Amino acid sequence: MPMQNQNVFSEIDSMKDEITKTLMELVRIPAISPQNGGDGEMKKAERLQKILETVGFDKIERYDAPDDRVPSGKRPNIVAYAYGENKAERLWIITHLDIVPPGEDKLWTVTKPYEPTIKDGKIYGRGSEDNMHSMVASVFAIKALKKLGIKPKRTVVLAFVADEEQGSVYGIQHLIAQGLFKKDDLIVVPDSGNEDGSFIEISEKSGLWLRVRTTGAQTHASRPHNGLNANRIGMQFALALDKMLHEKYSDKDEYFDPPESTFEPTMKEKNVDAVNIAPGEDVIYFDCRILPKYDLDEILANVQKLALEHEKKTGAHIAIEIVQKSAAPRPTDPKAKIVLMLERAIKQVAGVTPKAGGIGGGTCAAFFRKIGAPAVVWSTIDETAHQPNEYTKIKNLISDTKIYATLATM
Ligand SMILES: [Zn+2]
Repeated sequence: MPMQNQNVFSEIDSMKDEITKTLMELVRIPAISPQNGGDGEMKKAERLQKILETVGFDKIERYDAPDDRVPSGKRPNIVAYAYGENKAERLWIITHLDIVPPGEDKLWTVTKPYEPTIKDGKIYGRGSEDNMHSMVASVFAIKALKKLGIKPKRTVVLAFVADEEQGSVYGIQHLIAQGLFKKDDLIVVPDSGNEDGSFIEISEKSGLWLRVRTTGAQTHASRPHNGLNANRIGMQFALALDKMLHEKYSDKDEYFDPPESTFEPTMKEKNVDAVNIAPGEDVIYFDCRILPKYDLDEILANVQKLALEHEKKTGAHIAIEIVQKSAAPRPTDPKAKIVLMLERAIKQVAGVTPKAGGIGGGTCAAFFRKIGAPAVVWSTIDETAHQPNEYTKIKNLISDTKIYATLATM
C-alpha cells in the first residue's frame, strides 16, 4: 500500500469520533418530503452546509429547486468541489438529504428515530444508513485529504440532494436539468449496497406495474347464471397471464440477481361485502421486473392479445391499465473507468473482491445512465433502510470513508 494512503487511513481512523458525532448530528434533523407530510430538507441542508464550510472545499454552490409546498419555498441541493490535479476529470459522489418517515413509533425498540444511539458498534436512527452513512463518509474522505494537504487526482464533487425518496424531481433531476453533468464524469450514487461492500450495481431491470380490471355482472351466488362472476374470470386470466409471461420471457442474464425477469401477481382490490354475492368486478395487480433486453411495448401487446382472447371466451371485459412503466436505461459498462477504479479501491481497503451486476431496479443511477454518463451504485451497508431500528455500522462507515479517499487519489 502506498505510503500516502497509509497516512490518509491513519488520519481517518483518528477522526472516528468526529465522523460518528457528525452522523448522529444529522440524524437528529428530520428531512421529510411534503408528500410524506414533512417540511422538506432545508434545516438539514443548512446544518450540513455549516459542516462543509469547515472542510476546506474550493467551492460550494447551491442549486435549490422552488417548491411551494414547503415552508422555505425551496428544496435544497448543495454541490461542493475539491479541485484535483486534473481539473477536467470529475468524480461525483451523490447522496440524498431526505429520509422516509419513521413509521410506527412502537417498532423503534432500540431508540427513537431522531435520537441516534450507539449500540454494539452500530449507530441507530432514521436515515443513519439511508443516506447519512455515505454522505458523512464522502465528506470525511475529503476532510482527511484537506487536512493532510493532499490534492485529489481529479476534481471531486460532492452533491447533497433533495427529494430522492419521492422521485428526485427537486434533486438529481433538477441538477441534471441545470447541465451540471458531462458524459465522461465518474459518478457514484451510494444509495444501495450489501453487507461487505462487494456489490457494484451497474444495471437495473425495467419496471412494469399492471392493473388488470375484469368486469362481469354481479349476481346472487345461488343463481350464478344470472350474472357473470368476475372473480373466477379474473383468477383464470391472472393465471394465464402469469404463465404466458414466464414462458415467453424466460431468458436469464447472470449479471442480475435474480438472473431472470420476475412477474408477480401482487395486490388485489377488495370486491364484494358478503360471501353470497358473486362479484361483478375483479382487480388484480402485477409487479413485473424485466431484463433490459425485452421491449416493454412488445410485452404489453402480448398481454393485450391474451386479454382479448379471454374476453371473447368469457364475455367479460378485461382492461389492462399501466400503473407504472419505466424502461431500464442502457447499463453502465462493467469495464467503465469508474467501475474499475471502485473495484480497485474496495479491494485495497476492504480486502474483498467486488462483483458488478444488476438489480430489480430502480435506483437514481438510472437518471445518469439515461444521459449517457456511467454511474454506479455502491456502499457497505446491512440494508436496514426504510425499516424500524435502521442502523449503520461504524466499522463500515470508516471503511467506506477510506474507500472514497482512495478513489479520490488513485
Ligand atoms: Zn436512499
